Amino acid sequence: MNVDAREYDVIIIGSRVAGSILASLLGEAGYRVLVLDRSTFPSDTLSTHFFRAPALRAFDQIGALDEILATAPRLTVNFNVIDGIVFPEPVDRPEDYPYYMCVRRVTLDAILVRRARLFADLREGAIATDLLQEEGRIVGVRWRGSDDEEEAMARVVVGADGLYSFVAKQVEPETEHIEAVHRIMYYAYFRGVPANEGPAAEFHYEGNSLAYCIPCDNNLTLLAASVPVERFAEFKRDPEGELLRELEAMPEIRARLTDAQREGPVFGSGNIPGYLRIPYGNGWALVGDAAMVMDPWSGQGIDQASTHASILARYLGEFLSGESEWENAMQTYHAERNEFSQKIYRRTCKFGADLRPMTRAALAKRGLI
Ligand SMILES: Cc1cc2nc3c(=O)[nH]c(=O)nc-3n(C[C@H](O)[C@H](O)[C@H](O)COP(=O)(O)OP(=O)(O)OC[C@H]3O[C@@H](n4cnc5c(N)ncnc54)[C@H](O)[C@@H]3O)c2cc1C
Repeated sequence: MNVDAREYDVIIIGSRVAGSILASLLGEAGYRVLVLDRSTFPSDTLSTHFFRAPALRAFDQIGALDEILATAPRLTVNFNVIDGIVFPEPVDRPEDYPYYMCVRRVTLDAILVRRARLFADLREGAIATDLLQEEGRIVGVRWRGSDDEEEAMARVVVGADGLYSFVAKQVEPETEHIEAVHRIMYYAYFRGVPANEGPAAEFHYEGNSLAYCIPCDNNLTLLAASVPVERFAEFKRDPEGELLRELEAMPEIRARLTDAQREGPVFGSGNIPGYLRIPYGNGWALVGDAAMVMDPWSGQGIDQASTHASILARYLGEFLSGESEWENAMQTYHAERNEFSQKIYRRTCKFGADLRPMTRAALAKRGLI
């Protein structure tokens, strides 16, 4: 078959942050896009879903920004407490988005998926089970839906399928860097937590522990804790008790928990490593968590996945339009992804092992120690 005559230009596996943004951008540019996701929407996924300007820019690019802004407060104050020293600071940079946001994934991903559906053929409850190959090139996908097995061919197959990427398992990409698991993250939603002025995104550090108190959508407050992985067994045994103990150890949070009610279960994860993968090969590309993961303590995943999707859309567009050869287009995608991410990736890995050198430096920089 002539590769230009495939049923789709691109098949994307995964339709949350990376997949929906990529599908929206390519679909709106006129390419034929199929998106498969094993989930149905709206649905939740493990994440404390705090994001900043890079994600907001990508949401704007796909026309989803206004809807997302309407869901939750703009967090204009960065409220830091380090070992008892309190120093709130306004979020005054960058100029285009001088605030953060925190939107539960059940809400955020539903908006992104709705947007992608306008421009792409999007199938929910579709589990990718095989990649189809011709002469060493990935040329299609087989999946299992609610009724039967189906398959489709495309010029490019993209894995936007997260931490346990099925596509990555099949194509076995080379890895540029791997970081061991250093920390665990547990979280829950509460109602009735008085907000600090701003509203503020709050980061409470005590030694090598970090607790978060962040207003999000549906008038809920996200309360979370990131602690060293050595405590994973304790948290698995008693997630509610350990999370509460961790939050109550932070004086600025404890005072506000008296009348707060937890809504829903405690979620958590203790197996997030760091990795940076070569994000393309013969007929395939990886984007978002499928290509790069870092410990969630720095709250970077959504900023990174959304920006990488936007970069990939630009260079896939150049390839699909015939402006660039595959290798040139993907080399540039890889280089730009690394340029955007490597510094924060290294920083997240380094201080994930121990937050204290970072918090000491932050206090020293402000003349607070
Ligand atoms: C505990 C925790 C806290 C976090 N906190 C933050 C935070 O505060 N801020 C932040 O920015 N990031 C945070 N992250 C990271 C963030 O959630 C991820 O970086 C982000 O979800 C990556 O988006 P993605 O689109 O690449 O992948 P995902 O959101 O994982 O989406 C992948 C999709 O692929 C689908 N899929 C997988 N396999 C298949 C298959 N075989 N067939 C079909 N579909 C498939 C899945 O169903 C899923 O919908 C956190 C992560 C964790 C675990």
